[in-house]
Amino acid sequence: MLRGLKKLNRYEKRLLRIAKLGEKITKLKQVGFSRRTKEGFRFPIYSLEIGTEEGLKKNPVGITAGVHGLETIGIQILLDFLDYILHPKSTGYMTEFKKSKLGLVVLPMVNPGGVALKSRANPGGVDLMRNSGVEAVKALPFFGGHNFSSKLPYYRGHGLEPESRTVFRTVFDRFFHAKNAVIPILDVHSGFGTVDNVWWPYAYTKYPCPDTDLYLKIASYLKNQCGHIHFAYGPQSESYTTHGDLWDRIYDHYREVHSSEKNWSSKLLPITLEVGTWSDVKEEPMKIFSKKGIFRPAQSNKHETLTRYRGFLRDVVRLGLSEPKDWI
Ligand SMILES: [Zn+2]
Repeated sequence: MLRGLKKLNRYEKRLLRIAKLGEKITKLKQVGFSRRTKEGFRFPIYSLEIGTEEGLKKNPVGITAGVHGLETIGIQILLDFLDYILHPKSTGYMTEFKKSKLGLVVLPMVNPGGVALKSRANPGGVDLMRNSGVEAVKALPFFGGHNFSSKLPYYRGHGLEPESRTVFRTVFDRFFHAKNAVIPILDVHSGFGTVDNVWWPYAYTKYPCPDTDLYLKIASYLKNQCGHIHFAYGPQSESYTTHGDLWDRIYDHYREVHSSEKNWSSKLLPITLEVGTWSDVKEEPMKIFSKKGIFRPAQSNKHETLTRYRGFLRDVVRLGLSEPKDWI
């Protein structure tokens, strides 16, 4: 049953239009395939690269969305943002890409099969945010990831799913080699809680990650200098700990790869934006009984919801203009 197929097609068409907007500085690529559905369908996973070769090589920044197929609000926030920064007449138009100061690599729908199936998991029933193989110290039972059955939510799977491999490969190719760079990669989700959360690693342990000081400085900058005061900033484990977070594995792998290089100064900084949509429950109490309700905002304020995050995403992308020494 591919009840979300129309929606997926709509997002893909929009992505194509956005790619055309950027003319010479955008490149739409297929970087992978989803796991096959029971019916035998596979869905392409796209990346959109924005910027010149030089900008993409020297100062790459990443944004991903649609890791969970039900969280289409995150995909729409990202597509709206791309329009906002690429349309020459937009107030948010960013000249940094043409000038080779920044490069943006976007995976707008990591889990297209989940979007088509209207499910959080991929077509194999695996929750990609439980799939990395990282073992949590004290994960929440069940919700934190399990290996009972792919028919239950939060299933970890066995080995990396094709979608997870696509994320790892893209991040490795496009972000691991940039020198003396601050490299934020923002992953947009929706659905947890009543406030918007901005999380950094780790998800698997309450032990602070090695870049905690830097993350705290960035959080303070986003809050106090940029005015994004309505977000709750902190390590993900402050909210809950889970097995298999993709970013935990990427973050640790990056540190491992560069551990023998004494003068390696670049910082790869996964950041998760979890758009809280439970606040709408007050306005539409029936939503709590609907499966998708809590992942999607009320209709009336939908446009406002999408555009509300433009400034935040823009400021996160612009972190890529800084150098590691600016934060010391
Ligand atoms: Zn999610």
